[in-house]
Amino acid sequence: MSTKDKTMEKIVSLCKRRGFIYPSSEIYGGLNSCYDYGPLGSELKRSVKDFWWKSMTQTHTDIHGLDSAILMAPRIWEASGHLENFTDPLVDCKNCKSRFRQDHLNGATACPKCQGELTEARQFNLMFKTFMGPLEDAANTVYLRPETAQGIYVNYQNVMTTARAKLPFGIAQIGKAFRNEITPGNFTFRTREFEQMEMQYFVKPGEDDASMDRWKEIRRNWYDKLMINSEKLRFHEHQGNELAHYAKAAYDIEYEFPFGWSELEGVHNRTDFDLSRHQEYSGKNLQYFEESTKEKFIPYIIETSAGCDRSILCILCDAYSEEEERVVLRFAPFIAPVQVAILPLVKKDGLPDIMDNIANKLKKHYRVAKDVSGSIGKRYRRQDEIGTPFCITIDYESKDDNTVTIRHRDSMQQERISIDAIESYIEPALALPID
Ligand code: ATP
Repeated sequence: MSTKDKTMEKIVSLCKRRGFIYPSSEIYGGLNSCYDYGPLGSELKRSVKDFWWKSMTQTHTDIHGLDSAILMAPRIWEASGHLENFTDPLVDCKNCKSRFRQDHLNGATACPKCQGELTEARQFNLMFKTFMGPLEDAANTVYLRPETAQGIYVNYQNVMTTARAKLPFGIAQIGKAFRNEITPGNFTFRTREFEQMEMQYFVKPGEDDASMDRWKEIRRNWYDKLMINSEKLRFHEHQGNELAHYAKAAYDIEYEFPFGWSELEGVHNRTDFDLSRHQEYSGKNLQYFEESTKEKFIPYIIETSAGCDRSILCILCDAYSEEEERVVLRFAPFIAPVQVAILPLVKKDGLPDIMDNIANKLKKHYRVAKDVSGSIGKRYRRQDEIGTPFCITIDYESKDDNTVTIRHRDSMQQERISIDAIESYIEPALALPID
């Protein structure tokens, strides 16, 4: 096994052991490529979504939030092109029966596992189908949305009217999407049920190129704020065949995962394709009327489409660090699932009461854990392994002079500070970096 595979294996095992991510339906043997986020994972995911949401709607007063339904009118998927084109080319090995996406075979014509003969490629639609109501027939077929974006496009006029928005403006949405992927894998990187964080920015045609440049930069900076190693981030520009037929320009933000460079997020110039198609298929006029020039036109859309689960996986891989005597998750402190751990040296003599008093104060603003068992060294290691940026240790001196020791996860340095100064001490590191 290569070192990179081993790293991935260690991260998966830590995620399970410490309660970040479990295999789904585990007591029934699991369900292929489905995962559940445990106590620490769900806190981490919430923090990342909260950071994304606030980076969009709170930072930009021209971006409005939306939470649209997963089930939508089936005609939407005709208009969007998903019914016709949302397919992957599927090939099977006639010998070992392995299944591949032909476009992932890098031109190979034999099975990469056993060199067996491959079948002709068949186009396989990735949308999950289900039925609405008791009759399971074509007329009642509905789809689980394969992207959250269409919910935004079909609400563009609702949002514009109710928010009294004028171009340019954006609509942001976080939600589940479903794709019946042929080859899910690499832990949570490619799954069949996942969460997207999408923002669609509506602009006047002609202003799209500048808007695209702006959003590329904003979205790249977002990962910097999460303290992702910038040498492991890059843009990949879609060229030729890669570029979707409706896109004028498309860039992926990629991260170097232990299994290689892979897409985290797409930033796309989708032109007026989506709204024009919805205008055509719905029969509703979706043109924008610009009062100052009396012009009518269909806006262009710049899309920023990030995978929440892929962001989490990137954060975990980037934070994971093995050091001489410890494993540390070096999360950006503001997203750490536990931000402050409070550790009394002993379980008696009033030290746990001091712990409770500090915890009661801090928990109003921060994610706090209390840990009273095991040696202090062991407790530090436990907190390092889940990425807790600050540990506060209470000892006998604390009773006399109202001070505690505060330990930094990354440097392991310790300082003595007054209990009354804890909040102002940790606040700068834990504040959300939104501007
Ligand atoms: P890929 O080429 O990896 O299949 P895509 O180009 O089809 O991805 P988009 O349709 O642009 O992806 O989706 C936007 C984002 O949604 C992706 O950048 C990714 O973060 C996330 N995403 C897409 N498919 C999956 C999946 N199967 N599992 C987890 N996240 C996904």
